[in-house]
Amino acid sequence: MSEETVFALASAAGRAGIAVIRLSGPAAKDALVSLGCAAPLPRKAVRARFVNPLSGELLDDGLLLWFPGPASFTGEDVAELHVHGGRAVVDSILTVLTGLEGLRPAEPGEFTRRAFEHDKMDLTQAEALADLVDADTRAQQKQALRQMGGALKELYDDWRLRLIQALAHLEAVIDFPDEDLPPEIADKVWGEVADLKQEIIRHLDDGGRGERVRDGIHIAIVGPPNAGKSSLLNFLARRDAAIVSDIPGTTRDVIEVHMDLGGYAVTLADTAGLRDAGDAVEDEGIRRARRRAETADLKVAVFDGAVYPAQDAVTATLVDSNTVCVINKADLIENEVQKRAGVSPALFMSVKTGAGVEEFLSVLRERVGEKTDNGSAVPLTRARHRHALNECVEAMTRAKDAALSELAAEDLRMAARALGRITGRVDVEEILDVVFRDFCIGK
Ligand code: GDP
Repeated sequence: MSEETVFALASAAGRAGIAVIRLSGPAAKDALVSLGCAAPLPRKAVRARFVNPLSGELLDDGLLLWFPGPASFTGEDVAELHVHGGRAVVDSILTVLTGLEGLRPAEPGEFTRRAFEHDKMDLTQAEALADLVDADTRAQQKQALRQMGGALKELYDDWRLRLIQALAHLEAVIDFPDEDLPPEIADKVWGEVADLKQEIIRHLDDGGRGERVRDGIHIAIVGPPNAGKSSLLNFLARRDAAIVSDIPGTTRDVIEVHMDLGGYAVTLADTAGLRDAGDAVEDEGIRRARRRAETADLKVAVFDGAVYPAQDAVTATLVDSNTVCVINKADLIENEVQKRAGVSPALFMSVKTGAGVEEFLSVLRERVGEKTDNGSAVPLTRARHRHALNECVEAMTRAKDAALSELAAEDLRMAARALGRITGRVDVEEILDVVFRDFCIGK
């Protein structure tokens, strides 16, 4: 158990109905006594009057919960003070705690780090907890909960165990060459390594779906100047994020809005209208628009219905299978024949009148869903995991090609270590700081 006892405001800072102050460590119980309370029965909420130990003044009348270690979040003695969320109340209690022997404010992520150190969770679960706290959309929430429940931990632990078993068999062959080991044992090892490698490669080759859910899907709106790209962005963002004007070439930089589209986090980027501008600033904007279009997960190509069906050649070069084409200003298109004459397949809408916008949105939602839906498989969610899995696959490949069994064994050991780094079973110190750095205080 850690020597030090830490405390922090676990709820968001600022005025609120209720605030939660959390303490963890061996001095938690004494701290409660100092505040004028005795540690209550485990895991039962009791009403508590918190007082200043020096003056005896009442600081708040709230609730107290006591989770004696090891059956607590951190594995240590934990107390939770539910107090009124006014600044004076919270500040006065934190000030008292700061003055107590053996207590200090927690570092960001320190409660979770202690939970990890006491084997309450592995690193993928700790990361999932951070993701859950950061989740803005339903899909992010679902994915984080699944990972927090141990879905990735189980997968990676199982792979690591299988690798270690294969390694043990290989080492038996190396160490006891004269013993009566079954002759097919080496074949079994390499069969298992090959199967495992295929499974990991399939897991890696998921098109980045889990990472997309977590980080958000990038959609670039492209099209000729004046087609209504900024109007569409503002409509979707429900605010005036981009300048709408009938002067072509107004949007010269990439403007981004973050939104929730059908439960998925989406970053929508409005880009400069694509044309041969001849103006240095606008040209730079167009270059950025193209770059953004190239790196986006999805593109929305907006064409100008007013000049329709004169297609814009520059925009058309960007249209591919990842593009939703939409012809805006349908209110200015006069007849059905003209409507049918143009880009196909394309949707017609008018941001101005709202006609066709719902249909466009449902197509967009569907496309976003296709980019993120992973069926029943557990998705990979972080670049850190991807990196370690790639290392694992490389080490397995090297092992297979190794000239000597001893070298093959060393490569398999490295492969297992790469998997162990994901869950935090090995080389822990160097990765802990990276993982917990992104946490907020009180978590
Ligand atoms: P961008 O250059 O592609 O970003 O286009 P804007 O969003 O700035 O719009 C250009 C002009 O078209 C503005 O005057 C808008 O008010 C107008 N506009 C946008 N959408 C529609 C529409 O659906 N119908 C009509 N009639 N005008 C529109």
